[in-house]
Amino acid sequence: MGAGSRLAGGGSREVTYLYRRNGPAMNANLNMSSAAWVAIDGPAGAGKTTVARLVARRLGYLYVDTGAMYRAITLKVLRLGTPLCSQSLRDLLRATDVRLLMPEDQSESRVFLDNQDVTAEIRSTWINRWVSPVSARSEVRQKMQRLQRQLAALGGVVMEGRDIGTAVLPAAGTKVFLTAARRDRVYRRTKELRAAGRRTSALQQFLAMGRRDRIDRRRADSPLRVAPDATVIDSTLLTADEVCECVIALHMFRHGGRSLQ
Ligand code: C5P
Repeated sequence: MGAGSRLAGGGSREVTYLYRRNGPAMNANLNMSSAAWVAIDGPAGAGKTTVARLVARRLGYLYVDTGAMYRAITLKVLRLGTPLCSQSLRDLLRATDVRLLMPEDQSESRVFLDNQDVTAEIRSTWINRWVSPVSARSEVRQKMQRLQRQLAALGGVVMEGRDIGTAVLPAAGTKVFLTAARRDRVYRRTKELRAAGRRTSALQQFLAMGRRDRIDRRRADSPLRVAPDATVIDSTLLTADEVCECVIALHMFRHGGRSLQ
């Protein structure tokens, strides 16, 4: 693990704060309050990751990609062929350690499953296909949400996901629901995947994203929906920088600019 990184999350263990040197003056004038939590929710392909990283960098907050945590659990479920029933999942979760390594410069976080770096593997088509059914299970959600709250207890966070403003951090001072026209979300995702060397078509992505969003919206436990006090931002005609500006402005407005450096 390199300097300037933190390893957090994990099994039943406490969040581990390993290292922070010359990082941004994170939380210098905050009292670890919920006002310093920025929740960014929304469907697949709306640009949450890019925006959340930019915002975290600007604010000097911790960036937490909760989707990566669900993806890591899904990888383990698939590797072991675990049935999606309560008892099997509880046993699996008890014996599973999921951790995020978050570099201070907000470059890509790394994800560890039982101490193995699975950052690349969790982005596979296989995981994309299964992550929503696995994430729909309450056993899985309860464990992940507990870990996510432990991370937020560290101080200023920008946490992205599907249920952050509604279930994980309902007291978050800034809540954004980021969306975009489906056509644009599909186009962006297809372009991203192709740039990463994957063979895919817009039609495949249209179908895959539609299915994932449907399961995420329809599940019984903490479904994807807009929190009543969230601000909806449609990023169809905006750049990531413009969306970032909107989120920062909202945060300043709500937070009186106290957290900005
Ligand atoms: O954000 P990402 O696309 O990596 O998320 C993958 C999947 O993980 C989502 O489609 C959803 O099923 C699940 N997820 C979730 N709750 C979150 C974050 C992700 O259920 N907070």
